[in-house]
Amino acid sequence: MSRFWNAQVHDLHPYIPGEQPRISNLLKLNTNESPYGPSPRAKEAVCAAATDDLRLYPDPLASDLRATIAKLHDTSPDNVFVGNGSDEVLAHVFRGLFHDDAPLFFSDVTYGFYPVFCGLFRQQSREFPLTPDFRIDITAYDTQEERDCGGIIVANPNANTGLSLSLDEIESLARRHPNRVVVIDEAYVDFGAESAIPLTKTLDNLLVVQTLSKSYALAGLRVGFAIGSAELIEGLNRVKDSFNSYPLSRTSQAGAIAALEDQAWLKNITNRVQNTRDSLIPALENLGFQVLPSCANFILVRHSAHPAGTLAAQLRERAILVRHLSTPRIRDWLRITIGTDEDSTRLTDTLKDLLQPQS
Ligand SMILES: *Cc1c(COP(=O)(O)O)cnc(C)c1O
Repeated sequence: MSRFWNAQVHDLHPYIPGEQPRISNLLKLNTNESPYGPSPRAKEAVCAAATDDLRLYPDPLASDLRATIAKLHDTSPDNVFVGNGSDEVLAHVFRGLFHDDAPLFFSDVTYGFYPVFCGLFRQQSREFPLTPDFRIDITAYDTQEERDCGGIIVANPNANTGLSLSLDEIESLARRHPNRVVVIDEAYVDFGAESAIPLTKTLDNLLVVQTLSKSYALAGLRVGFAIGSAELIEGLNRVKDSFNSYPLSRTSQAGAIAALEDQAWLKNITNRVQNTRDSLIPALENLGFQVLPSCANFILVRHSAHPAGTLAAQLRERAILVRHLSTPRIRDWLRITIGTDEDSTRLTDTLKDLLQPQS
């Protein structure tokens, strides 16, 4: 509390990022970062951009980067918006594309930043419970009147569960709300789900948001983007140019272009993560864990005999960080980021030790 803060700041409930502690021999399975490095071409491009040109502002339109994204996703640069991480893209979406005189719809288990943005942008919200098997029922989002809904945001695959909607369900969701913006946050799509980007060609209310942080192993570069109708993109540009005209540095733009152009690297590191995931799941099930079927780079697990909070603390004592989230629906669960095969072995060996009945 401070007398210098305005009333709104007093009422904020900021997002709590996963911890980034300095512990030696630390195994970080708590923030869904990639265990692999980014494309070597991206690293070279970042270094090559570190010249005296840094005295100049970067391209405010990020034209080359937008052209690269457009080419990759078979669309036009007018349909592409870029930001300083997808969190910033999402912030502009909240500011500019949702109606704050009606609640924004999202599910009760999803990305924790959505309710935080609602606080910052004074956006009403309504949370829809996932089904008992943690799926999103899109028909539950139906309204009598469109004005009862301020917009819809869905993480697909969903944050913290790893489950995904089909493209048919996404199309149906957007068609059920033709006068509201439906945002699909695809932070984890490259790990095994199908992107809704092709649907944006025919659905002018559908906006798809992606990031280079997870699948491209570039969380430190801070690059995210959105693809949608030119109308939606223009709205986002109006917000951006009322806030910060230069969100992406010269080095970020250069690194992102090179990373996006190296699709072979993306495929290689995402395949490795998927293979590790597919062998970690049965290994954990053998130890008595229930594991949700994930198509992301993390899994949500619980053990009937061992409380999630206790397990997370015990793992932490052994320098393994996993995420125990406070969302009521998943308080009994742990979210574990997929690392390398060696990381999986260390995790399962440590769990075997912890789960053994003490004699
Ligand atoms: C990680 C994540 C983001 C944020 O990604 P940045 O691009 O690093 O800001 C957005 N949405 C979801 C669902 C995420 O998991």
